[in-house]
Amino acid sequence: MRIGCPTEIKNHEYRVGLTPESARELVLRGNEVWIQSGAGLGIGATDDQYRAAGATIVDGPDPIFAECEMVVKVKEPQAGERAKLREGQLLYTYLHLAPDPEQTADLVKSGVTAIAYETVTGPNNSLPLLKPMSQVAGRMSIQAGASALEKAHGGRGVLLGGVPGVLPGRVMVIGGGVVGFNAAQMAVGLGADVTILDRDPEVLERLGTHFESRAKTRFSNMANIEQMIGEAELVIGAVLIPGAAAPKLVTREMLPLMKPGAVLVDVAIDQGGCFETSKPTTHAEPTYVIDNIVHYCVANMPGAVARTSTYALNNVTLPHALRMAELGWKEALRQNAHLAEGLNVHAGKVTYKAVADELGYDY
Ligand code: NAD
Repeated sequence: MRIGCPTEIKNHEYRVGLTPESARELVLRGNEVWIQSGAGLGIGATDDQYRAAGATIVDGPDPIFAECEMVVKVKEPQAGERAKLREGQLLYTYLHLAPDPEQTADLVKSGVTAIAYETVTGPNNSLPLLKPMSQVAGRMSIQAGASALEKAHGGRGVLLGGVPGVLPGRVMVIGGGVVGFNAAQMAVGLGADVTILDRDPEVLERLGTHFESRAKTRFSNMANIEQMIGEAELVIGAVLIPGAAAPKLVTREMLPLMKPGAVLVDVAIDQGGCFETSKPTTHAEPTYVIDNIVHYCVANMPGAVARTSTYALNNVTLPHALRMAELGWKEALRQNAHLAEGLNVHAGKVTYKAVADELGYDY
């Protein structure tokens, strides 16, 4: 199969759909891989590295959209890219169609077959192509919070790990799923005093078994949050209620209970945020202060570590790409029900029920 990977054009997107290593795997299995010149520069991958992997470098995105059977990307296609998609072409990328009627209409009109990373499932209702980005965001949240705690960044002037003779900082992680687990791991690694709150007894049990005495767990309710919020230097918001906006677990009235210069990192900001005073920020200006509390609410945290994020994403997207290239997408989806869940649009129809219901398409 001829597979193409264009340069991402969404504002401040530095990731790339295929790493040189992934290109090599595809080439080794008899595929032809076309990479747009410069596509990997955001992660430090040069055209020469792709050439050495056996890929063909092409100028601009047009040859890829015109002549490749499968287009592999990271972000949803932008309007200019959507105009180039063709009937019968396979698009493999994050799409997030439900809140995006314009994109959905364009994909339907184009006749493309679109597989969305975010709806490909795994065992136990997991979403394995979303998971690496939650791992990245969870790990980054502690790094971002530690930096915001520095005096020059508006914080309380606390080193999370402390030093011999001085107590470590206290970190409260609300939500113990993928983001929360990874945040806790980083905070524990730094030597902070860590407590993870969740509402799911199975999650609490799993965390307790994993961290043993290195982190505490506590049931998440308003009384416990209100009591703990006054003790924490850093609070990570990592809750998710699938398909719903995040619940507001720290209200504006609770901010005066906190230590001046304490930090709130709201990773759940992409679902509206779990702190009442959260509003989305960018990597260019990641924090703001309300009532002496520093807020970090960047909605696309993995974008800041584009190289790590690209490699983490390729680890989970490549196996399906290889299978679709080998078998053809129809047979690959027939053989793998989890991959089949990724099919969102095909031949002028929305083929994913939640998107069809949300946007009023026949299903
Ligand atoms: P997850 O489903 O793995 O974990 C969510 C956890 O929240 C679950 O364990 C659940 O029991 C818990 N929870 C639900 N309600 C709660 C409550 N009231 N109190 C305490 N815990 C509660 O989800 P995840 O992958 O960890 O993602 C968490 C959030 O981070 C999501 O909103 C996700 O979209 C977001 N996210 C943001 C970025 C970013 O760049 N900002 C990147 C990746 C993920």
